[in-house]
Amino acid sequence: MSALALLGGDAVLTGSAPHFVWPPVDDVTRARVAAQLDTAVSVPGRSGIVAELEDALQEYFGVRHAITLSSGTAALHAVYWAARVNAGDEVIVPAWTFHATASPLFHLRAVPVLCETGPDGNIDPTRVEELITPRTRAIMVTHLWGRPAAMLALQAIAKSHELALLEDGSHAHGASHGGQKVGTFGLAGAFSLNGPKPLSGGEGGFVLTDDDDTYYRVLTFAHYNKRAESEIPKSHPLARYAVTGSGLKLRIHPLAAALALDQLGRLDGYLAGRAEVAHHLSEQFAGMPGLDVIPMPDGVIPSWYGLTITYRPEEFGGLSIERFHQALVAEGATGFDRPGSTRPMNQLPLYRQPGPLFPGHPHSHRRYADGDFPVAEHTYRHTIKLPVWHRGEDLPLAGRYVRAARKVIDHHKELL
Ligand SMILES: *Cc1c(COP(=O)(O)O)cnc(C)c1O
Repeated sequence: MSALALLGGDAVLTGSAPHFVWPPVDDVTRARVAAQLDTAVSVPGRSGIVAELEDALQEYFGVRHAITLSSGTAALHAVYWAARVNAGDEVIVPAWTFHATASPLFHLRAVPVLCETGPDGNIDPTRVEELITPRTRAIMVTHLWGRPAAMLALQAIAKSHELALLEDGSHAHGASHGGQKVGTFGLAGAFSLNGPKPLSGGEGGFVLTDDDDTYYRVLTFAHYNKRAESEIPKSHPLARYAVTGSGLKLRIHPLAAALALDQLGRLDGYLAGRAEVAHHLSEQFAGMPGLDVIPMPDGVIPSWYGLTITYRPEEFGGLSIERFHQALVAEGATGFDRPGSTRPMNQLPLYRQPGPLFPGHPHSHRRYADGDFPVAEHTYRHTIKLPVWHRGEDLPLAGRYVRAARKVIDHHKELL
């Protein structure tokens, strides 16, 4: 009989799961959200909890404008519209990201142009220029799993081709590159505040920008009536549209804003704690045969939305990643996960064939298929990821995950 739990042995981890719960909520959080119930449950202007959260975001990121929205997807949609991405325009996006980084482009009848990534999952700056055409308007960057992308190289490309540089910081709140926080490198940054994200309001999103005109355009896109009326100067050409805006209303809920504000005050503490746990885990996994951990470049501070491990089946006699992962989960290490919906977008029907959803969409010159992005697709297929805990008292739990991995590796022949 095998020692492996998958084959009938005893599991390394017993007891209750899930082992990772996010966002962390304590009595202070509960009191703050409950207090908001008695203050206001609808905030139409830039006042109350919405103004408090936006002021705090501006301060934290060091930007002139933070605008809250109902979701990260809405924030991305607003950013594209604000950057004047029009029908038929192209935007270069990483081939591998959560689709919402790029999918709002279809609603603008614009064309997402997928770009190969590096083995870290981030857009490969050496593959961007070959995709630029006279129709290209912008480059959108995701900082996948919270690891900042190569922003200096991307800034240089955007500048020399006069393209807007945009960021999706939804995995990477508080992550930085050379001391500068991601989301502040280009014209605008969009962030999600969704459940598991490093900064969470449950649901919600926000846009950061230093550019006044982009601020007024985001308001016009997503915050019609009172807020557009009070915030957009009467002399601005968009002011006369204040009552209707663009026709969409994409406000954050005040209870979500209260939760996000509570969490923002704790974010740097979360990140410091995650860095410690991630350091420990990375060291352990990097020392195991068949598992690769891509080192962080100098000057980069990630948010550790996820710690990713690249699995090399050839080191395990060809054992499939599915079976290896199954064996880890059977050991009770249920936090080991394989990326699901965050996948190379050339695999998604919306990107292969948008026509049925968006009749007449100007996509016909780009038809994506399997194998178009070998680096992104190979890395995606061989990735196992783990959430990163943020408290010192979680280190023993992290240690049990390490033991589970070592055990499966030691006994992998029994799985073949
Ligand atoms: C979560 C996420 C989004 C979408 O945000 P929602 O708040 O869920 O709409 C967009 N991009 C990335 C990279 C994300 O992880």
